[in-house]
Amino acid sequence: MTAKEILKYLQAGERTALIKRADEVRKEHCGNKVILRGLIEFSNYCARNCLYCGLRRDNGSLRRYRMKPSEIIKASYGACEEGMKTLVLQSGDDFYYGVDDIRGIIKDIKKRFPDTAITLSVGERPDDEYKAFFNCGADRYLLRHETMNERLYKKLHPGQSLKERIRILEFLRKTGYQVGAGCVVGLPGQAIEDLRGDILFLQDFQPDMIGIGPFIPQSNTPLAESSIASVDFALKVIALARVVTKNSHMPATTALATLDEGCGHILGLNAGCNVIMVNFTPSKLKKDYAIYDNKVSVSLKRAEAAVLKSGREVTFERGDSLKR
Ligand code: SF4
Repeated sequence: MTAKEILKYLQAGERTALIKRADEVRKEHCGNKVILRGLIEFSNYCARNCLYCGLRRDNGSLRRYRMKPSEIIKASYGACEEGMKTLVLQSGDDFYYGVDDIRGIIKDIKKRFPDTAITLSVGERPDDEYKAFFNCGADRYLLRHETMNERLYKKLHPGQSLKERIRILEFLRKTGYQVGAGCVVGLPGQAIEDLRGDILFLQDFQPDMIGIGPFIPQSNTPLAESSIASVDFALKVIALARVVTKNSHMPATTALATLDEGCGHILGLNAGCNVIMVNFTPSKLKKDYAIYDNKVSVSLKRAEAAVLKSGREVTFERGDSLKR
């Protein structure tokens, strides 16, 4: 798509034709199955201070937790025993866990469940650590680019740069990972033209996986008073991402389900998504992974019900990249 076409879709009041097109592209390139992946949020400590995120370093009112490696492994086994063939291990940028800790976790899971894909989502780390994780069995890495507007990126992520973020994404791909990028829709200060930049980036980079979620404020952040993003607009951005990337794996995000508890997942699945993340974080910790307010917890039952309601079929397969 050209920049002009993308902008036209983003500005249009009508979105039905775009959503329909995205659904057709998804069907042709990804099939009808919806892949379920198991998510474990193992630490809510973060060294960064992103303005929109409840895990930010300066949020003193968050009850912090760190799971021990043995607890992460136990939760991972639990998810695998429920049938998950992909585990997404996620945390804030928490350097408490050294290379050996994370390598030990990966190796243990791979030894017991060799067919399970491991996705890491542990933020920005030195290049040699990415290599070490990959060499001991990590398969995929999620690192949303957040926004392609350099000025806005800098404002929202003190001390970080978009240039470095993109460099890391390229490095991860070169290392051999299946790579996930993605953006937030409706960030305070974000213009429609910025989202056009996000779609153009996704079209150019062709990530193996894409996560796009609507902005939801978190009460203990500097952006607490900002407006919640529109679900309809987020769906347009998701649909455009599907059209320009064709076969990237795209989750109907938990943020969509949070904004529309009854239909969020279904709306995402209808707009081009083909994945749902099921939360296997231990129950007593879930509510403390408070990246935004009122984040719902997606159980296996809930994910299966959404897939069923959307008229699609659940699959527990690994769901490796369709781009290779
Ligand atoms: S968005 Fe990520 S890096 Fe930023 S504060 Fe939240 S968890 Fe940390």
